[in-house]
Amino acid sequence: MNQFIKNQPVVALLLLIAFAVLLFCFVMPALNYWHKLNTVQTSIQVMEDLSLSETILLRLMEFCTGLGVFAIGASIGSYLNVLVYRMPLGLSVFWKPSHCPQCGQTIAGSDNIPILGWMKLHGRCRSCQLPISAQYPIVEAKAGLIILVLFFWQTLSGGWNIPVRIPNSYHGFVWIIFYTKWDLVGLLLLHGFLFYTLLTWWLIEFHQERIPRYSFLSASIFVLLTLSIWQKLSPVPSGFSQVIELSRTNPVTGFVSGLLGLGCGGILGWVVQWINRLQDKTSNQSLATHYFTALTGTVLGWQAILIIVLCWIPLGLISNLFQSEDRRRIPPHAIFLILVSLHHLFWRLIYEQVFLKFSV
Ligand SMILES: [Zn+2]
Repeated sequence: MNQFIKNQPVVALLLLIAFAVLLFCFVMPALNYWHKLNTVQTSIQVMEDLSLSETILLRLMEFCTGLGVFAIGASIGSYLNVLVYRMPLGLSVFWKPSHCPQCGQTIAGSDNIPILGWMKLHGRCRSCQLPISAQYPIVEAKAGLIILVLFFWQTLSGGWNIPVRIPNSYHGFVWIIFYTKWDLVGLLLLHGFLFYTLLTWWLIEFHQERIPRYSFLSASIFVLLTLSIWQKLSPVPSGFSQVIELSRTNPVTGFVSGLLGLGCGGILGWVVQWINRLQDKTSNQSLATHYFTALTGTVLGWQAILIIVLCWIPLGLISNLFQSEDRRRIPPHAIFLILVSLHHLFWRLIYEQVFLKFSV
């Protein structure tokens, strides 16, 4: 019993997970099934006609996969914490056993489990008892959530939010994972990479360190190469391939699409800094803003970064207006990150509203 009280946060977390399993895997399918029994079905839904036990099984599989995806994301988050600490110091970013930043003691494997390890130790180092920053589990949870939302919203939905690409009408766990739709998996990995890189940069800035230039260069070269090899990962046509009549599967198409996004992002980053300097002559002159906008443009295309920055400029101006002397202003790149996330959730709708209305 004593142990039970000692591990309160872990117990609360386990109870929460149990509750979620119950709701998602049993209560919701049962309600759905009951609803179906009481309504006359008009359309033929062959694949949707699962029995209650099949639905429960499917939901359990989805839940376990979700938990697995979250765990993978949280582990990546754990590595991001390492990057945030090591990159500005110029230390190696390759794997090395984690150690306590205060006393240097190597952290045991069982204490190094994302989120749970920190909770188990009540946020203190096992050897020196000094507090370990809550940033560690928070970043791990954020990283887990990012990939979890992408997985359900973008991948299992059959690419609902991806513009131009026709969403898979057969979607869900069986149709996307068992009969793997590889382009959706690729998009999940690429977009996960974008969000994780932006999060890492933002955390480095938050600690008032400088984002290393090599991290931007390597990330953009990696994305450009990926887009050249796998053109389906840039679903929105850049317009360039239509002009010189290149096929959508030509490596040049993917590369140019990324490059146009990179250039557009870079220029927009310059515009944002120019506006900032008009307001505040002392505003920092670092290249960080260019890194954020250029990488986002490379991954999502010039159309996406244009829309995001056009929303970002007025929001930045408003947040500056409300900034008082004593209160710290909202970091502009935090607003950018939120805008990129929101844009991503409704990417298809935004793209159709803005770009398809004006084209023939
Ligand atoms: Zn320590």
